[in-house]
Amino acid sequence: MKQFNTIADLQQYLNEKRQDNAAIGFVPTMGALHEGHLSLIRAAKATCDFSVCSVFVNPTQFDDKGDLDRYPRTLETDAKLLTTEANDVLFAPSVDDIYPPGLNTAHGVDFGHMASHMEGAHRPGHFDGMAQVVRRLVDIVGCTHLFMGQKDYQQQALCREMFRQLNYDVEVVTCPIAREADGLAMSSRNRHLSPEERKNAAGINMTLRWAKEAATILSPLQIIGLATDMLNSIPGARMDYFEIVDGITLERVNSFDEADTVVACTTVRIGKVRLLDNMILKAV
Ligand code: AMP
Repeated sequence: MKQFNTIADLQQYLNEKRQDNAAIGFVPTMGALHEGHLSLIRAAKATCDFSVCSVFVNPTQFDDKGDLDRYPRTLETDAKLLTTEANDVLFAPSVDDIYPPGLNTAHGVDFGHMASHMEGAHRPGHFDGMAQVVRRLVDIVGCTHLFMGQKDYQQQALCREMFRQLNYDVEVVTCPIAREADGLAMSSRNRHLSPEERKNAAGINMTLRWAKEAATILSPLQIIGLATDMLNSIPGARMDYFEIVDGITLERVNSFDEADTVVACTTVRIGKVRLLDNMILKAV
């Protein structure tokens, strides 16, 4: 695996690859890699000629400075894991290289309501920072395919919408959620849970699995009411939201007939840790 820490070095290398018309699969991450990230690398390797993984803790998507400071930085271990997966290129740029003073790096897209509810309502500015860095990184890498996790459902839906509005010829591939044995979605934040909280956190996925079964007999509104009670009754837990939405537009649905794809999205705080999860309740 090659590692580049500057845009100039990365682009010099990738320009040669592009001349051969290679399909370049790109996996943007913030590091602290786990099985979920590695499943994206495997998908990129299986689909494309070439895989590029970035590790960049993007300061513009953190609404909470303490959260940014606490974010785990484990580049050496990440590089070892990526080598084991035979990833082709690791790109680990500096903040100054990504956001040089004077350069306009705004994402330039109007997401409307798509970005203002669910995560958007709880983390002001988060999605603007996320879209900014994804657009910037995709511009730098010049990938043909972008691999993202279903784990951050709203994020991948917004990136699809961004490339649609910008007319980018980039295929977004959304990969399934990698989970622990008890169903908890893998996340770099799970390491901040105490053993007791970690055990209780399995209740989030249990509730989503219940919602999937209930979708055959109950309405979205009924499921939201009962799921809210279930999540808030997990010891030490406080639900931020539980929504049932159209999988493309992210608009709330009142009936499962309203959209081809319907997804339940939730975020629950257990102790100080915010845990995101979702479940596709209906797909065509
Ligand atoms: P992050 O480093 O948290 O910004 O995540 C980088 C990418 O990995 C995003 O596309 C996430 O959706 C994806 N990802 C994170 N956790 C998981 C998981 N448990 N399963 C699948 N993909 C994931």
